Amino acid sequence: MSYNRYPYELPALPYPYNALMPYIDTETMHYHHDRHFQTYVDNLNAALKPYPVLQRLQLEQILRRGNLLPAEARTKILQNAGGVYNHMLFFEGLSPAAEGRHEPQGRLAELINKTFSSYQNFQKLFTDQAMEVFGSGWTCLAMTAQQQLKIVNLANQETTLAQNAVPLLLFDVWEHAYYLKYKNARADYLAQLWHVVRFLEFR
Ligand code: MN
Repeated sequence: MSYNRYPYELPALPYPYNALMPYIDTETMHYHHDRHFQTYVDNLNAALKPYPVLQRLQLEQILRRGNLLPAEARTKILQNAGGVYNHMLFFEGLSPAAEGRHEPQGRLAELINKTFSSYQNFQKLFTDQAMEVFGSGWTCLAMTAQQQLKIVNLANQETTLAQNAVPLLLFDVWEHAYYLKYKNARADYLAQLWHVVRFLEFR
């Protein structure tokens, strides 16, 4: 079993389920991690079961080479591989508010200031763009192959890897990420999420 190769398994949360209170409630964490994330893992394993060659690829290789996947299984594999990849990074990128690891550091902080004028302005632009996601999807800060930062919206379980860009911050904007606590108030969820997110390492 592995987190990045078949057969995939669900990574444990790196913090307790109640660690993000009051910004993300315990019940949402259980449903989101144990049910939704687990379902993507299970469905990805099922989709890859008939394809031994694809089982040997790492998760990121599958997502970068979507056009090479067998046509009859491409959509199912990409949707579920994307769901596994996005959720892995989303939960890895959450951090209890008390740990104070939420602002970008070092070179990333400099790049954000250079690209978006200030961290505060970046937060505003990112939040505004997350409000624009129609239906289910994600908002992501990504580093392009040209080493430029960009804020992108991803529909459903698309990933930035298909655009050859590396995610540094991911907000899950699917209703399952916030509906139990925030109901339809996506703006409230987004405002509170900033208290418990952290930026991912450059990879
Ligand atoms: Mn989700």
